[in-house]
Amino acid sequence: MTAAAWSAWVPQHALLASGVQLVLLPQPQWLRTLVHVAIPFGSCDGAVRCANQSLLIAPGAQHLLEHVLANRLEQMIGAQFAAHGVNLQAQTGWHRTGYHFWTLDAPLELTSALLQALLAVDIPADTVAHEQQIVAHELRQRQHDPRIQARQQMLQALFHQHPVRNSVIGTPAQIEALDSAHLLALYRTLYQPQTLTVFAAGPLDPNAWAAALSALPLPASAQPRPVRVEPVEPATVVTQRAQSTASVAVPMLRLAFKERDFTLPYALREQSSLLALELLTGPAGALARAGRAIQGSYDYAGDLSFGYSVLEWHTPQPEQLLELVASALADLRQQPIDPAQLALVQRNRCAQMLRALEQPDQAMLWLLTTHFKQTSLSDYLAAAQASSAELLQQRLSEHFQPLNAVASLVLPR
Ligand SMILES: [Zn+2]
Repeated sequence: MTAAAWSAWVPQHALLASGVQLVLLPQPQWLRTLVHVAIPFGSCDGAVRCANQSLLIAPGAQHLLEHVLANRLEQMIGAQFAAHGVNLQAQTGWHRTGYHFWTLDAPLELTSALLQALLAVDIPADTVAHEQQIVAHELRQRQHDPRIQARQQMLQALFHQHPVRNSVIGTPAQIEALDSAHLLALYRTLYQPQTLTVFAAGPLDPNAWAAALSALPLPASAQPRPVRVEPVEPATVVTQRAQSTASVAVPMLRLAFKERDFTLPYALREQSSLLALELLTGPAGALARAGRAIQGSYDYAGDLSFGYSVLEWHTPQPEQLLELVASALADLRQQPIDPAQLALVQRNRCAQMLRALEQPDQAMLWLLTTHFKQTSLSDYLAAAQASSAELLQQRLSEHFQPLNAVASLVLPR
C-alpha cells in the first residue's frame, strides 16, 4: 500500500482565535458536504475537572442535555435548516456528543448558524421535562431490544466501574432525578468555543472555511477548558460468564477479551487485535481449519482508558462453539504465524479501511473517531502494517487469554 493512496485522507487542522477547532477534509469529487460539530465529552464522562474544581456529571445527563439542546436548536435555527431541506441530528457517544448534518448547497451558512446557536442556548425547565418524557420512551424501547441487552450484559461482565458498563441514556430513576439546574451547569462548562470542534468533509475550500468561521462573533469562553477525569478500572474482569434470557430465536453468544496493555498506542491495539481475530475466524483461519466456518463477526472497541475485543455469533450450540474457539485459540498461540497468511490479512485490512473511506458517512466517522482517540487515519494503516508476527503472538498469549475472557450468553425464553 503506497502512501499516495492514503494522502487524500489527511485532514487539515486549524485553531480559530475563538478557540474553536477545525478539522477539514477536502474531497472535491463529492457532491455533499458533511458537517459534525462535537464536544469531546459523552456518556462515559462521569466527571470533568475545570480550574481545579471537579464537576460531577449525573448518569444520563449528557444524553438528556443533548436532547434539550437539539430541541432548542430546532426552535432557533430549524426553519433556516428546513429552507435548505437539511435535517439536523444529534448523538451522544461514549466520549463525544455531536450535532451533524449534510448539505449540497449551504454548508458554511448552516455551520455558522449551528455554531452560534449552540453557544447561545437557554435551558428552560419545561423543555427539560418534555425531553425527560421522550428519553423515558427511548429507554422503554431499548429495554426490549435483545441486542442492546446482550451488549450491556457483556460490558457489565467486563468492567467493574468504568462508566462504559452503564447505559448511555441512564435508568428510569436516573433520568427522573435530573433537573434543569444540573443541565445548565453542565452546558456552561462543556459547551464553550474552546471545547467545540467543527468537522467538515466534502467539496470545500479550507481557507474559505477558516476565514468565514474566524469572522463569526462567538462569545468568549467563560472558564478554562474542562479536562476529562479518567475512571480507575481494575485489570480483571468482573465475571467470566454472564447469562440471561430474551425473546430471541437462536442463542446469542459474545466472547470478549478485556484490554490490559495500555502501553500500546490505540491504533496498534485495535489493528493487532483485528488481525489476530482474522487469523482465528477468517476463511483460512484456525476455526475454519477445525472444520467450523460458522458465520459471525468480530470487532475491537474502546478508547484511551479502556478497550476490548469481541466475537459475536448466533448459534444453536453456544457451549460447543466456545470449546472450539478456545482450542483454536490455543492452536494459534502454539504455532508460528505463517508470513504469507499474515501479509494477506494485512493487505485485506488496509483495503477494507480504504474502501470504507469511499463512503462519505464512513469517512466522517473515521475523522471523528481518530480525532477523539488522538490518532490519525494514517496511524491505522501504519498500525496494520506494523503488526508483526511477534506482536500478534504476544497479543494472542497476553490479550486473547482465558483470564481476560468473558462469555456472555442470551438464550431464548
Ligand atoms: Zn436520545
